Amino acid sequence: MKAMVLEGKKKIELKDIEKPTPGLNDVIVRIKATSICGTDLHLYQGLLPAKVPMVLGHEASGEITEVGANVKSAKVGEKVYIDPILTCGECRLCTIGRYNVCENRRVIGHDIAEGTFCEYVRVPETNVFAIPKTISFEEAALIETTSVAVHSVKRARIDLGDNVAILGAGPIGLLAIQAARIAGAGATIVTEIQPNRIKLADQLGADEVIDASQGDVEKKIMELTNGVGPDVVMEVIGRPDTVEQAIRLVRKGGRVVVVGLTTIPAKLEILLLTRRELEIIGSNAYMMKVERVGEMVGSGKINVKPLITHHMPLEKLPEALALLERNEGIKMMLKL
Ligand SMILES: [Zn+2]
Ligand SMILES: [Zn+2]
Repeated sequence: MKAMVLEGKKKIELKDIEKPTPGLNDVIVRIKATSICGTDLHLYQGLLPAKVPMVLGHEASGEITEVGANVKSAKVGEKVYIDPILTCGECRLCTIGRYNVCENRRVIGHDIAEGTFCEYVRVPETNVFAIPKTISFEEAALIETTSVAVHSVKRARIDLGDNVAILGAGPIGLLAIQAARIAGAGATIVTEIQPNRIKLADQLGADEVIDASQGDVEKKIMELTNGVGPDVVMEVIGRPDTVEQAIRLVRKGGRVVVVGLTTIPAKLEILLLTRRELEIIGSNAYMMKVERVGEMVGSGKINVKPLITHHMPLEKLPEALALLERNEGIKMMLKL
């Protein structure tokens, strides 16, 4: 089968590799659409360790072409999207329902070298879900990303009428705006520097979008919240300075949710935390059934379509990664 194989730092080649066969409880999915995640870019750039040679990719949808001997409900020909996170179900964290931080968590296309940037992928039956009839393969491929955003909003425990600031309008930020509104946010205030993302944040329902490249962002946010600060600030960029900014901005007793990833340490003024009684909450992947999120995308409550700025054939993966490196586009969708 055709596969885009990562061979080393910034080296991806189209190869002919062996097609996977299903284990007893697995299905084989013929990929139809697969999008590129920030994690794929980091693995490609060598910023995260990759088990080369490997096939990247974990956001995908397609059609089941084979099922293992013990598979109960999944059927050949079914159109599905993939939950790429495999959990053990047995460790202490799984047994208390914290699957997302399972001690033995493995992600397809990351810890597992057989990702979705190829023709066929092997997935346990429990990790595929029927695509709602109302959406395309492309939209279904983004249900995984949407789940990350929905989980982060759940972590924020938004109460009806809460003012929510979202720092960063990349894919997760743009989806978090929509999820926060569903969760009952009063005002959603977004900061972003890229013009195309500013436009999209506005289009997808943000109440206020602040161009963070102009003027004093913090002053503007304080004005918009009557000098009190937002009830919730979500950091969806992954930079130490914006994490510090989130902590400065949030109201007393408020919640800061950190979704962005960075290995660079941030400074924390401990007095801000104690005197202002803040909560700083991390958010990692998701721990609800992605099917719930699939329903929200299927019903149009969350609109993923405008995030797809580029459609390309699988072979164009290196070009798509280069565009992302230059911050062009939002979601790159590879089609097969
Ligand atoms: Zn992802
Ligand atoms: Zn576990």
